[in-house]
Amino acid sequence: MRNFVRECKEKKLTIGFVPTMGAFHEGHLSLIRQARKETDIVIISIFINPLQFSALEDYDTYPRQLEKDIKLAKQENVDCVFAPSVHEMYPKGFLTKIEQDVLPEKLCGAFRPGHFSGVMCVVLKLFNIIQPDIAYFGQKDYQQFVIIKRMVLDLNVNVQLRMLPTVREKSGLAVSSRNVYLKKRERQEATNIYRALKEGEKMIRQGETSAAKVVARMKSIVRQIKGVKIDYVVVANASTLEPVNEIKGKVLLAIAAKIGKARLIDNILVP
Ligand code: AMP
Repeated sequence: MRNFVRECKEKKLTIGFVPTMGAFHEGHLSLIRQARKETDIVIISIFINPLQFSALEDYDTYPRQLEKDIKLAKQENVDCVFAPSVHEMYPKGFLTKIEQDVLPEKLCGAFRPGHFSGVMCVVLKLFNIIQPDIAYFGQKDYQQFVIIKRMVLDLNVNVQLRMLPTVREKSGLAVSSRNVYLKKRERQEATNIYRALKEGEKMIRQGETSAAKVVARMKSIVRQIKGVKIDYVVVANASTLEPVNEIKGKVLLAIAAKIGKARLIDNILVP
């Protein structure tokens, strides 16, 4: 990987990088296509990072389809797929941790302790290995993007970051590798998550300034999903991720909920 990166740099070719955990869907492909448009060389990584899963989460069952992903990457004219083993990324003796204050404790962080520390660690390692000019992320994982942006600023990492819109099914459901965990009925009802976000957005656009009222309405829509377990439904400051009381300026509407075996997240930004 390092030799390939060195050759690209010597030829003054720009590198676009898309980090992923594989099981490609249209969300991943949209990032790859944007990288293809903006940079000379497109490198993607496929690595299911054990550090970002807790013992109770789905590391073992997370969908794995490396051969199929490589085919899809070829179709998109990706130049290089970096798919290291866990042992290569975290050899015996690995001890270092990346921590950040405040942001990783908000939203999903409250329900997934250590998750964003694991994300920062793998992303920083990948940035160091691949040294991309531009790295591409999806808005679907908005908190991840905000945390990585902060890390890049704080640690002077020499990379530009792009956040691209969430790709959705026709139903509005955000495409996700974890949607395969959903049964047919669950998948239909999961569309209530995006419906709730759009309803919250509508209320705000119509002048509602009480976050409590918007949250209550969004929750009532999410609760229509049979057996749903809500982790959070919030109106938050888009920069600090802190829940707001009064809505003024740009806000993030964000939802995380467990439906059957899947923990789904989604969000929209309301200017
Ligand atoms: P993952 O493989 O789930 O770690 O995701 C890899 C990248 O794809 C991350 O930057 C995600 O935010 C992004 N991504 C995942 N789902 C979507 C989606 N529905 N639309 C756009 N980007 C996405």
